[in-house]
Amino acid sequence: MEVVLTADKTLMSNHHGKEFLGFGTSAPPNWLPEWLFRYLFFPRIKSNNGFPWQAPYGLRKIEAKLIDAGIDAGVVYPDDIANHNAKVIGIYVMDPFGWGPSSTTFAGIMKTGMPYNAKYFELLFKSNAYKKLKKQGAKTIIGGPGVWQFKYNMEFASRYKIDCIYDGEAEKDVPWLFKNALDGKELPQYIEKMPKEAPSLDEIPEIKKASVNGLIEIGRGCPRGCKFCTVTLRPLRWYPYEKIEKELLVNKKYGLDATILHGEDVMLYGSSNVIPDEEKVLKLNEIAKKYMKNVTWSHASFAAVATKPKIIEKVAEVIIDENQKWWGAEMGIETGSPELVKKAMPAKAKPFKPKEYPEIVKQAAGVMTDAGMIPACTLIVGLPQETDDDVIKTIELMDDLKDFKSLIVPLFFVPMGKLKNKDWFREEQMNELQKELLIKCLQHDIKWAKNIANEYFQERKKDILIKPLYHLFIKIIEWQGKKKKVLE
Ligand code: SF4
Repeated sequence: MEVVLTADKTLMSNHHGKEFLGFGTSAPPNWLPEWLFRYLFFPRIKSNNGFPWQAPYGLRKIEAKLIDAGIDAGVVYPDDIANHNAKVIGIYVMDPFGWGPSSTTFAGIMKTGMPYNAKYFELLFKSNAYKKLKKQGAKTIIGGPGVWQFKYNMEFASRYKIDCIYDGEAEKDVPWLFKNALDGKELPQYIEKMPKEAPSLDEIPEIKKASVNGLIEIGRGCPRGCKFCTVTLRPLRWYPYEKIEKELLVNKKYGLDATILHGEDVMLYGSSNVIPDEEKVLKLNEIAKKYMKNVTWSHASFAAVATKPKIIEKVAEVIIDENQKWWGAEMGIETGSPELVKKAMPAKAKPFKPKEYPEIVKQAAGVMTDAGMIPACTLIVGLPQETDDDVIKTIELMDDLKDFKSLIVPLFFVPMGKLKNKDWFREEQMNELQKELLIKCLQHDIKWAKNIANEYFQERKKDILIKPLYHLFIKIIEWQGKKKKVLE
């Protein structure tokens, strides 16, 4: 093969078919030995001759684009890339240096060293397989949502002889870029694409092989305009049903019976504004359920759920059955303060007003709990505009959400989007109120994690065997919390 595409070992995993466990890759070394932690959170994906059964969706997109351009390319497990006489190595990154929100938060609180995602990323470059291909003259191209971190670490790029870093949606440029690399031409060191240069739907190919946990895109972009977010800068595009159906069929052909519908707000599928289109969201879920036993969502917003709560009830009727008892999504609460919503995320509450935001979150939480939807929520700690009063409002909201069956994860602010020139929020900057908020989240999560783990690990036979290990992990965190007197 002329081009091998790969990623580090934390990304080349399907996390036992449980996407949420992928969060564990952003933890630093902890109370579990590394081999056990790795087994629990990022076990090696099943591979055949080095070709992984499932691979990160972004890599599958680039693979499809290269194959369509007539280039001999494929996704290969990192240990096996040197089995090919490749002239180009394409590497996909999510959080290469552990500077994303969850890594900085975990690392800041635990202070036990480099997060696993960063450790395994560097190990890829130190591997014999990578060194062998480089010795033969292979060029390296990096892409993926985490490339922005290279702007702060170009030294890493020169140390490991990375030829090109691509920042943006790459579909339009992949053919010429890789052809130039194959021809041995000099590549631009850093390519940064403007949101207006994003590919149209026709320029985005369908994947040709299975993606991790059957994740498939349903669209790109988000209309809400939060200042700390890069996604919102991109144009909003929704895939037509046929395109989604084709990717579902690809995953099915490779033996997957579950899918994650990926969009920044699945509730807004097919809508050009912030009002969900009931018919389209239902049809989307019906199509997915036609092919897959288990359907879940990547992201949704509280405002959209509160705008059309009936959709959640009807989606539950479509997807909850003997194969599936619940579904999840990652959802950003971010704050309980209307003032902070107004300043940093002005469209977060739309079509409601920022002052209604805490009420919207509570209403939507009730709707989801009743329907069997269990989200993993985030809060942002240390936004540049945050005041003590904002933190107090978020603590009050946490009190109101104590019966909300969910996980609520606090994340330190990371400079991205329109706030990219600000500084990272660090653990040593935390004041007493912010610490109190973190403790509230820990109490909420320990209470619900035990309950949710029972549902999370009950769908497949293998789950019954590994479930006690996760319960043990939760117990260890609880024991540590008690030792530090933050849990009763
Ligand atoms: S709602 Fe989420 S995806 Fe949309 S702009 Fe805000 S943070 Fe970004």
